[in-house]
Amino acid sequence: MIPRRVALKVDCDTAEGTRDGVPRLLAIFAARGIRATFFFTLGPDRSGLAVRRVFTQKGFLRKMLRSRAPSLYGWRTMLSGTLLPAPMIGECCAEAMRSAARAGHDTGVHGWDHVRWHDRLDTMTAEEVREDYGRAHAEYLRIFGIPARMSAAPGWTANARSLEAQEERGLVFASDTRGGSYFFPRADGRVFRTLEIPTTLPTLDETLGRDDLPTDDAQRAFFREAARGTQVHTIHAEVEGRSKAGLFEGILDDWLADGVAFPRLSELAREVLAHHEAIPVRSISQTALPGRAGVVTTGWPETPAQA
Ligand SMILES: [Zn+2]
Repeated sequence: MIPRRVALKVDCDTAEGTRDGVPRLLAIFAARGIRATFFFTLGPDRSGLAVRRVFTQKGFLRKMLRSRAPSLYGWRTMLSGTLLPAPMIGECCAEAMRSAARAGHDTGVHGWDHVRWHDRLDTMTAEEVREDYGRAHAEYLRIFGIPARMSAAPGWTANARSLEAQEERGLVFASDTRGGSYFFPRADGRVFRTLEIPTTLPTLDETLGRDDLPTDDAQRAFFREAARGTQVHTIHAEVEGRSKAGLFEGILDDWLADGVAFPRLSELAREVLAHHEAIPVRSISQTALPGRAGVVTTGWPETPAQA
């Protein structure tokens, strides 16, 4: 029988999520003997700017209303960086970040300015990308005392310039994309040597809007069924660590009852890199996902002619 494994990737996008959601998730994991991989946004929390997507992106308002975003994310997060000043997450929440590392979880970088990267990466110059990414790594080094060995792009948004900035850091791996299994990314004709481990399962904020999954029980049944083979599941400190913590605990308990194991992403990376020659090269592209506004970066579906 193929072992069932779910690597939990915890994206921390905001001050509120990092300060309050991370300790809650640490308690949830500790109670179950689970280890995960946390990625921290380290610069200004301008998440309130996401509110403007309500007016600029098709489908976002409907999603906000259906998912009841204010109750999902909290009004403070919704307004942060707009009506309220933008807190610096690395300054306000360093202790919560360190406590994740102390508890034996993987930790890495989830960008400097999450909103800017997510919304504007394609218009940022190589120099701007390198500066943004470098600031996040410098702040991580200040907080943890050692360089970050892994990173995850905000909003699964990557391009040749971001992969280039990443390559200079000598990371063990990155987790920037959605769908499919691990690969070395190709972009703008260049093949990069930082292993990419994609998120494979849909996120809870995507499945919560689905008409065919109207109840918590239906959501739990969906995730229980989805945990086949090895999966990477992204959760958000702002969601699973706060308003949806109870549902998340139910999902974890179903998986534990089924014998699902929870490797950290660094463990998956080590396993994959041990067979370096078997790692495929895939071109990255942008794609839309059900339940999510805008586009994300993917190495899937594989294009055989190019791979
Ligand atoms: Zn994020």
